[in-house]
Amino acid sequence: TCKCKTPEEVVKRYWQKVRNPPEEDCTICMETLSGPSGYKGPGISGVSRADLVGQLEQCSHRYHVQCLVAMYNNGNKDGRLQCPSCNTIYGAKTGNQPPGKMEYHIIPHSLPGHPDCKTIRIIYFIPPGIQGPEHPNPGKPFTARGFPRQCYLPDNDKGCKVLRLLLVAWDRRMIFSVGTSSTTGESETVIWNEVHHKTEFGSNLTGHGYPDPDYLDNVLEELKAQGITEEDGQQ
Ligand code: NAD
Ligand code: ZN
Ligand code: ZN
Repeated sequence: TCKCKTPEEVVKRYWQKVRNPPEEDCTICMETLSGPSGYKGPGISGVSRADLVGQLEQCSHRYHVQCLVAMYNNGNKDGRLQCPSCNTIYGAKTGNQPPGKMEYHIIPHSLPGHPDCKTIRIIYFIPPGIQGPEHPNPGKPFTARGFPRQCYLPDNDKGCKVLRLLLVAWDRRMIFSVGTSSTTGESETVIWNEVHHKTEFGSNLTGHGYPDPDYLDNVLEELKAQGITEEDGQQ
C-alpha cells in the first residue's frame, strides 16, 4: 500500500477552519477571503469548497484552502508547506547541508561482521563554496575537507533500509552541516551532522568501521531523531 499523502492531506494537517472569513485579501490569489478562491488552475475544484478559508496553526496567516493546496501542488511536494507571507515551514525538518552529490553502488566484498552479503558503498561529494543565510557567516566562504567521503553499509535488508533513509536525509539536507570540526578544530567547514557513518572498510582503526553489531539500529535511531522514519523511505 502506498503511504504517500495526497496534497490535500499534507496541507490539511496545518490549518484550522476560519468560520467568518474577513474582508481581507488572500495573498496567494489576491481575491478577498470573504469570497471564493480566485485560483483557476486544473484539478482543484474537487479538493474543497472554493470559499473555505484556513488559518495556519503557527503563524495564523489565512488563505483560501484551495489556494494553499494549489501552492503546494506547484511546489516540490516534499511533505512541507511554507507560508508565503512569513516563510514559516510546516512539516518535515530540513538542515543546512551545502550543495553536492550523493552516489552509491554495490561492491563485491563483505564487511567484517557481515560475511554473508556484499557491501553498499556511498560516496559523498561536497565542494567548498560560499555560505548561505542558513549558515554561521552568510556570504563568507566555507571549506570542505576529505571529499569524496566514502561510507559503507552491508547489502542486506536492514542495510538497504538505512540507505533509503539516508537518501531521504540527503534530500532534506541533513547528512552534513557547516560548522566547526571537532576532529580538526577548523571552523566554517563541512562537517558530519548527527547521523553516524562508517567510513572505514576492512578495519576499525578510527572507531568508524566494522564490526559493529549495533550500528544499523543506532543509525536508524539517529535518523528517527532527525524526523526520518521507515514511512519516509517508502515515498
Ligand atoms: P567532526 O569531526 O566535527 O565530527 C562530527 C561527527 O562525525 C562526530 O559524530 C564524529 O564522531 C563523526 N566522525 C568524525 N570522524 C569521522 C570519520 N572518520 N568517519 C565517520 N565519522 C566521523 O566532523 P568532520 O570534521 O566532518 O569529521 C572528520 C571527517 O572529516 C573524517 O571522515 C575525515 O576523513 C574527514 N576529514 C578529512 C580531511 C582531509 O584533509 N582528508 C580533513 C578534515 C576532515
Ligand atoms: Zn486565495
Ligand atoms: Zn505565515
